[in-house]
Amino acid sequence: MPELPEIANLAKQMTKQLSGKRIADVNVTQPKCLNISPKKFRRVIGKRINDTTAKGKWLFTNLHPDILLLNLGMGGDLIYHKNAATIPQKYQLRITFKDESALTASFFWFGYIHLVAEKELPKHKMTNRLGISALDKELTAERFASLLSGRRGAIKSFLLDQRNISGIGNVYVQDPLFKARIHPLRLIPTLTPREIQALHQSIKEVLSQALGLGGLRYERNLNGRNGNYGPENFLVAYKTGKPCPVCRTRIAKIRTGSTASYICSSCQKL
Ligand SMILES: [Zn+2]
Repeated sequence: MPELPEIANLAKQMTKQLSGKRIADVNVTQPKCLNISPKKFRRVIGKRINDTTAKGKWLFTNLHPDILLLNLGMGGDLIYHKNAATIPQKYQLRITFKDESALTASFFWFGYIHLVAEKELPKHKMTNRLGISALDKELTAERFASLLSGRRGAIKSFLLDQRNISGIGNVYVQDPLFKARIHPLRLIPTLTPREIQALHQSIKEVLSQALGLGGLRYERNLNGRNGNYGPENFLVAYKTGKPCPVCRTRIAKIRTGSTASYICSSCQKL
């Protein structure tokens, strides 16, 4: 399942490779993915693609005066094709550009293809409650601390709740907690200012490293190539039974509410 580094990487690639292209045709094979009728969606034809940004698991492509919102859901491929030769047989969305290149979206399970007028965006219910992006420069240590102040509950649940901070899922939540030596079930009021600062820094470090490496190895980028962030980059995530990189204690997989957590029980005490 793609998380912020993969989506942010797609946004970066889309801005670079698609900006300036004009839409010649669109084909949506699964109208359920749309928020409007397929007929209304055709108003994108003739529009020019501007920049794409990422927030949480959503891609926002500016088609002035509309915004195209894409969400790969549980995963999928969003691929740019220089010509028709590489277009897959199965896709939910195909956008063909005037220069005959194309963009296809193929969801593994279900995804969203929404078109919203720029000025209506604040009313778009699936994105308007998303918290600040975990990679946003404005998410400073001070801002992070202020988001946590007065909150109860476990730190991991807070980080996974997209209304607080968007873009961190169960893959990328593991290593920042380990690096900051915080057990996922630690209650927010028990965290010291120093731990909060360490956690902020490790979130930034882990996500930036993953973004720099083009995202997860089992996810594909806009050119159909896999990312370079793989198991060798993980510290404790998915490393059950392996030695902790700091103290050699065996890494344990534990249940934390509805999700699994990977921890070193010596480095991350509850
Ligand atoms: Zn350890």
